[in-house]
Amino acid sequence: VIKRGSPFEDRYIPEPNSGCWIWLGATNNKGYGVLSRKINDKWKVVLATRFSYERRHGAVQSGLCALHKCDTPICVNPDHLFMGTKHDNTHDAIKKGRMHHGERSGPAKLKREQILEIRSELVKGATHSSLAVRFHVDRSHISRIASRQYWPSV
Ligand SMILES: [Zn+2]
Repeated sequence: VIKRGSPFEDRYIPEPNSGCWIWLGATNNKGYGVLSRKINDKWKVVLATRFSYERRHGAVQSGLCALHKCDTPICVNPDHLFMGTKHDNTHDAIKKGRMHHGERSGPAKLKREQILEIRSELVKGATHSSLAVRFHVDRSHISRIASRQYWPSV
């Protein structure tokens, strides 16, 4: 974990190719990053995306939520976020095919080209967790690709 000195700043890593900030902290049951903040002397759980957006762009109207321009629900880069309603979010997800394929239901089948890409990213120093997020698989899956338990011939 990179120490930048705040509960938000210490909990993400920038992903060099996409520019996504990969949230490493806690997530809620929908897979979105969350953090605790003390507001009026009470601890409240807030969405990391909303926190990040407001920090950069100012307060968000109630009823709106921070949505992703990128395809990475766990990304907290304020430049990848925009404000919309939950309806926009659902609409967006359907458009991108996420609802039908259940992005998080299990490791997607990776293609040979993706294995090559993962291996080349590993050589360049990409972390297993950032690759896991990018390719929508478990971190253990990336480890097995790295150690050539999976795809030994590629
Ligand atoms: Zn992003």
